[in-house]
Amino acid sequence: MSERGTRLAAYLDQRRRLGEPGIVPGGLAPGELLGLLATEAERKTGAKKKAEVGVRAVVRAATRSRAGSEAKPVPPQLGTADYEELREIALACTRCRLAEGRKTVVFSDGNPAGRLMVVGEAPGADEDATGIPFVGQAGKLLDLMLASVELSRQESVYVCNVLKCRPPGNRNPRPDEIEACAPLLKRQIELVAPEVLLAVGLFAAQWLTGSTKALGKLRGEVYSYQGVPLVVTYHPAALLRNPGWSRLAWEDLQLMCQIMDSK
Ligand code: SF4
Repeated sequence: MSERGTRLAAYLDQRRRLGEPGIVPGGLAPGELLGLLATEAERKTGAKKKAEVGVRAVVRAATRSRAGSEAKPVPPQLGTADYEELREIALACTRCRLAEGRKTVVFSDGNPAGRLMVVGEAPGADEDATGIPFVGQAGKLLDLMLASVELSRQESVYVCNVLKCRPPGNRNPRPDEIEACAPLLKRQIELVAPEVLLAVGLFAAQWLTGSTKALGKLRGEVYSYQGVPLVVTYHPAALLRNPGWSRLAWEDLQLMCQIMDSK
């Protein structure tokens, strides 16, 4: 088994010993998932070729105006805020209706100096309760996906969402909420200045690419957000519901790695 596979096996074994076997999508046993990933690793050469084609063929700049960035210019205090000032502004923010029902503002997790910035959609109940993005089962799967490509949010990944406050009942974000919150994310990306952006889920993918296409049509290509390479993939929560998409998510991660390896 490759070093990557060995590390993933150790990770899975650790989670199993912690009594969390359910983190594997579709109820697969960790060994079954390892088998799947090992098979994918054997196909790495082919996947890399596919990723190279993707990188060569399509480096697209978003063309549509991003919701919020033009309709509502970044307030001056956001545009010049440093990281801690931005965080303080977010924690006190009441720019949209979601401020009324939240328990906490979920600003970020991980390393603000990380190479990779993962952008999700919005906090759920676990995130609202803890103030940390990507916790619970979906968060564990995200960590597993990152571990499979030798990345971790403790060391090299910064994680946040388009919306910093939980929509009630986990409903979809509304356009005016995204518009209100977008200046925070825009400044967040400027300050973190990652090498690569990974949009997980439809709303992050659409906002960052400036497209209204479905996620399945957006993934598989490399975009540019303000000059930062951007890859799109499924949200881990969607992967938990649709384990058949795991192979596609793996290909997206390989595309992302292709870009990071070239840096
Ligand atoms: S979702 Fe964003 S804009 Fe709305 S209150 Fe929370 S931080 Fe402010």
